[in-house]
Amino acid sequence: MIAQRIRVTGVVQGVGFRPFVWRLARELDLSGWVRNDEDGVEIAAEGAAEPMRVLLERLRRDAPPLARVDGVYAHDSASEGGRGFVIVASRAGTGRASTAIGHDTATCPDCLSDLFDPANRRHAHAFITCTRCGPRFTVTHRLPYDRVATSLAGFPLCPACAAEYTDPADRRFHAETTCCPDCGPRLSLADARGNPLPGEPIAETVRLIRAGAIVAIKGLGGFHLVCKADDRDAVARLRLRKSREEKPFAVLLASIASSREYAEVSDDEAALLGSPERPIVLLRKLGGCDRQLAGIAPGLEWLGVMLPATPIQFLLFHEAAGRPAGSGWLQARQALAMIATSANPGGEPLVIGNDEAIDRLSGIADAYLTHDRDIVAPCDDSVLRGARFIRRARGFTPRAIKLASAGPSVLATGGFLKNTVCVTRGDEAFVSQHIGDLDNAANCVFHEESVSRLLELIDVFPEIVAHDLHPDFHSSRFAAGFAARHGLPILAVQHHHAHIAAVLAEHGHGGPVLGLAADGVGLGADGGAWGGELLRVDGRHCRRWSNMAPLPLPGGDRAAREPWRMAAAVLWRLSRGGEIAPRFAEQAAAGGLAAMLERRVNCPPTSSLGRVFDAAAGLLGVRAVAAFEGQAAMLLEGLAGRAGRASPLAGGWRIGPDGTLDLLPLLASMADADDPAQAAARFHATLAAALADWLCAAADDTGIGTVALGGGCFLNDILTQALTSRLNEKGLQVLAARDLPPNDGGLSLGQAWVARHFLEA
Ligand SMILES: [Zn+2]
Ligand SMILES: [Zn+2]
Repeated sequence: MIAQRIRVTGVVQGVGFRPFVWRLARELDLSGWVRNDEDGVEIAAEGAAEPMRVLLERLRRDAPPLARVDGVYAHDSASEGGRGFVIVASRAGTGRASTAIGHDTATCPDCLSDLFDPANRRHAHAFITCTRCGPRFTVTHRLPYDRVATSLAGFPLCPACAAEYTDPADRRFHAETTCCPDCGPRLSLADARGNPLPGEPIAETVRLIRAGAIVAIKGLGGFHLVCKADDRDAVARLRLRKSREEKPFAVLLASIASSREYAEVSDDEAALLGSPERPIVLLRKLGGCDRQLAGIAPGLEWLGVMLPATPIQFLLFHEAAGRPAGSGWLQARQALAMIATSANPGGEPLVIGNDEAIDRLSGIADAYLTHDRDIVAPCDDSVLRGARFIRRARGFTPRAIKLASAGPSVLATGGFLKNTVCVTRGDEAFVSQHIGDLDNAANCVFHEESVSRLLELIDVFPEIVAHDLHPDFHSSRFAAGFAARHGLPILAVQHHHAHIAAVLAEHGHGGPVLGLAADGVGLGADGGAWGGELLRVDGRHCRRWSNMAPLPLPGGDRAAREPWRMAAAVLWRLSRGGEIAPRFAEQAAAGGLAAMLERRVNCPPTSSLGRVFDAAAGLLGVRAVAAFEGQAAMLLEGLAGRAGRASPLAGGWRIGPDGTLDLLPLLASMADADDPAQAAARFHATLAAALADWLCAAADDTGIGTVALGGGCFLNDILTQALTSRLNEKGLQVLAARDLPPNDGGLSLGQAWVARHFLEA
């Protein structure tokens, strides 16, 4: 007989781990107990040697689907002489918590069976959940994760639910957010002014949506604005009311089968769409998609699709399908297609409160489908294309990113656009949900709240604060204030150093590497506008090895929104300034631009690669003025995708004696191209070849064989794939973002990583 104490660490609370251990121990005929504490799960077990060995093995191998076991540590202990195996009360925490709360998860197959079973007591219950699914991060105020710490605290369990909650054999044993029609929250439907509407809320909502209404529907991390996706008038009305002219909307569809109606869906994409995290996945549109779903993603090759994640969303499709029994109907194609776009008017934070919705969505929503379970933390939908993150939020926050080693806690406050914040604890980095652009007061408040909440949830206090080098960002000013209030050291991290560091953090690589930062813009160490940088990064040390040959930004920041200005800058550099005015005659400023460039008035130089994409798009007539950030580059990539493979333009680039990469010959060919699609394909192929050439030369000079790719340009799939395969052919190891977006959404992790190295140096 052997007796052992076993500690299990990782995401092991609120995921059905204790009942799993209980069942396992009974199966293996072991005696002892299991309990939660602030470090995870603790087990006391005794029995014969072989079952004890099997227990340790299966704790890892067979853990419940939402659990993530980081460590299983066993040591021999004295026999407690008990009989049987029991779950004992959680040990009240005295020390600091080292567990994490789970992420929000789509309704599981077992709950769906209950939901659509007319004989089940939770039939059509809009708040059905169990230990394997449902809300977590978005309803939890604090640790330890218990019902009283969630927004279900105000809904005491009825006797039937309490019996399940206390039965270790039930999958709702200690399901902290469980409830039923007798004891749970309630749905309500209101008109545009917030007055209650009669009828059953789900049925009435479907009726309104079918009639062309825009309904604000409360989701996990915020309200969505929902309307019929194939109703041109409704879509046009939504665009008008949201002041969103061209930015694509995501579509909520019932099933994979429904998705195949509009887009190509590979096996990997199907798995991602149906995963418990349930992100928006960008799928390649089918030919008829723009006809069926006109105005959803105008001009783009990709359609953002999301499958239902919450019981409410499932019930809407269920109602539209005529309320069939069983879950089989979810395998079939369903006709209803709905836009589900985040309700965040003016780029401000998501609407999460019921009264707030009626206030902030006034003039946009025709009706409100809400309920009385509060959203604690706003959390946007996550967006992926292939395996690459574009936005990381619901379903993934607050999952930790494992670092190479443990170290002091760090707070990093991120950048300006697509802001996130990051806090480290031990060997884990916690990156917040997507916060958004810090260009309005409300998002700045959300940023500060996110810092406080993250520090509280993972229960650490930082020893240093890291921020972007740009002193005027709200995130930088906040970092300075926070550090001053708490007497902490502070570290400014250059934007592109942080981009590369984020990739290194994810891969547990300490450097040295060659970092290629291909980006829109970030403040450089010399005060310039950087964005196409070849960096030598080694821990906290970063040296600008080389950069893209600069182009002028005619009109400063405006040039980033108006690709025709970058096209003009290229024409001017080609000594073809005289073509600017006739070529861009429809632009009011075109007449004076050549003179402005000539006199170098308000034309700061930039080494940005993002602006090179803009220049190409402007020269090819793809887009003169962008309706949203990144649009010109997205359209250019779409065009290239349609043209298929192309060869690089011979002599399309030059590497100067100082190492700078100049793409002027390539851009000159764009200025004279006849076929924009062919030219766009050639642009991508040449750019990949040029960057590979540039990196290989630097690899030879430095003797460094590892390359890290960071920055927003690597959202471009054609570029990333072509460049990676070229570098691999040359024998270079390529590291790229995996668990975070390559764009500014990953900056905070990179800042934190640099600060860690700074403290340890
Ligand atoms: Zn479930
Ligand atoms: Zn109940």
